[in-house]
Parts: sequence; structure tokens; C-alpha cells
Amino acid sequence: MLIWRNGEFVDWEKATVHVTTHALHYGSSVFEGIRAYRTKQGTAIFRLQPHMQRLLNSAKIARIEVPFTEAQFNEAALEIVRRNGHESCYMRPIVFRGAGVLGVEGRKNPTECVIFTLEWGRYLGKEAIEQGVDVQISTWRRVAPDTGASLAKIGGQYVNSQFISMEAHDGGFTEGIALDFNGTVSEGAGENIFVVYEGTVYTPGIGSSILNGITRDSVIKLMGDLGMNVRFEAIPRDLLYIADEIFFTGTAAEITPVRSVDRIKVGKGSRGPITQALQEEFFAITSGEKADRHGWLTPVYQTEKQESSG
Ligand code: PMP
Repeated sequence: MLIWRNGEFVDWEKATVHVTTHALHYGSSVFEGIRAYRTKQGTAIFRLQPHMQRLLNSAKIARIEVPFTEAQFNEAALEIVRRNGHESCYMRPIVFRGAGVLGVEGRKNPTECVIFTLEWGRYLGKEAIEQGVDVQISTWRRVAPDTGASLAKIGGQYVNSQFISMEAHDGGFTEGIALDFNGTVSEGAGENIFVVYEGTVYTPGIGSSILNGITRDSVIKLMGDLGMNVRFEAIPRDLLYIADEIFFTGTAAEITPVRSVDRIKVGKGSRGPITQALQEEFFAITSGEKADRHGWLTPVYQTEKQESSG
């Protein structure tokens, strides 16, 4: 397995960092999680451009200077999948402040840019996609808009996500949902949330300390295709207890139903019809069974195949 690092392809074992690396001490990294799917037409990366745009926007927010362009990241992502010969995989681009100068501010350290890949299945478990997951409302809140930058995927902020997930696991739940600084619903530790109540779909707006999820955006577009509307609103916690359906979205979680919140059953306690309809659409597109009508898939091996067939 190879890893792309600062423009070169290096062996997995050799892609190490020094213990004085700034990001290790102060969380000064920005990263992405991207999936490459095995589609009927070959391997394809899902929503490559928006992911790399968000990576560079996260770096902009974190004031990390990045010595590569978005186009270079896109090409590196395609090439690492090819070189590792994946049919499908999870990809982790990460940009971080490297080693050299200790101290919080950190801007004198060189920037390191890496993309590695992993073979990975369903994040919250295969059954979770059909059966749903049991979640709790966390005692931890998301960072307030003036104590963090929820729109950026900054490494250090994931300590908050770790608190939320660890607390949930210790309590026997699969995941935790955090409230925002106002006490209204924000998101899961690594997933956005949608709530269906009396035929209307709600999701917190970007002012509710959420990451502006790319799966969230995909689901909103699919809802448009299916003639459904979504309302971006501050969601009170108690709506979760009386919701007909709740589901998570995320690159790792894809579209995962929530079947209980704080041990209170959501709807009938199983996947609801809107969740299922969106899943079917999502999985049909990401498997290549339905046309990629939004241009979400970037083929990985197309060039070689075209060349060899022509
Ligand atoms: N919120 C948080 C905190 C996350 O880490 C993620 C995963 N990137 C998401 C939401 C979902 O975002 P996306 O659909 O872009 O993966």
C-alpha cells in the first residue's frame, strides 16, 4: 500500500512523522473522509471536488498554507486509488502543521499534505443501514460559533466528537447527538441529522454548529428529485422523541436510520419510508445502477480502460 505525501508516493511503513509534529500537540490538522465506490461502470470517487474544496476551505479557516492546488489534490486522490488497486475504499486526505517549532501559534512549521486509503465497509455496521441505530443525546455540546469553527474539519475539534462517541459507547449506544450552544439539536459525532415529523423533513441549518456535510447536501438534492422539501430550522431536542423518522448522513455513515433516542423509540422503531426511499436512491447512484444524474462520481480507471479498449 502506498501513501501520497507532499507530491510523492511512499510506502505505508515509511509515511511517519516526528514526535515534535505541531498537529500532534495542538490538533492543527484539517482533513477529509471520501469514499471511492465500486460501481457497475468501475471504481469512482464520490463527490471528489466538493471534498477537496472543503479541505482547502478548512485550511483557509485554520490559516494553514497549502502548497498544492485543488486540482493537484484531485489528481493525487485518483492516482493513489489506482496505485493501490482498490475497487472501493475510504480515503483520508490530511493537511497538517509539521515538525520544527514548538509553541501554540505554529505558523512557522512546514505544511505536510497526505492522502492514504483504507478498505472499509459500513461505518456504523451493516445491519445499521436496515435496522437503524440506538443513540443518546450527549451531555457534551458542540463548540459555539465563537469557540470553534464547525464548518471546518479541523483535527483538534474532533476531541469534542470523541467525548460524544465515547460517552455514547459507554452507555451502550451506537452514537451520540450533540446539542448546539443554544440547546437545540446540532449533529452526531461524525454525522449530520435529519428528522421527519408529520410529513415534513427538518435538518439543522449551518448556524447550528454543524459541519456542512457533503452527504447532507447529496440527500437534500435527492429529496428535490423525489419532490420533497427540507426545512432548515433550529430543532428542539423533544422533536426527536416524537419524530416519525430520524436518520444520519455522512461519508462513513452514508444514510443510517436512527431507531431510538435516549431509549425512546423513533416512530415504529424501524427504518421509515422516507429514509428508505432516500437510501435506495443513494445506493442506486453510488453503485452505478442508476444514472449519475448530478455528476457526483469521478471514474478512477476510465482513462486506462478507454485507452485499452480503443
Ligand atoms: N459532521 C461531522 C462532525 C463530521 O465529522 C462528518 C463527517 N465528515 C459529517 C458531519 C458528515 O459530513 P460528510 O457527509 O461530508 O461526510
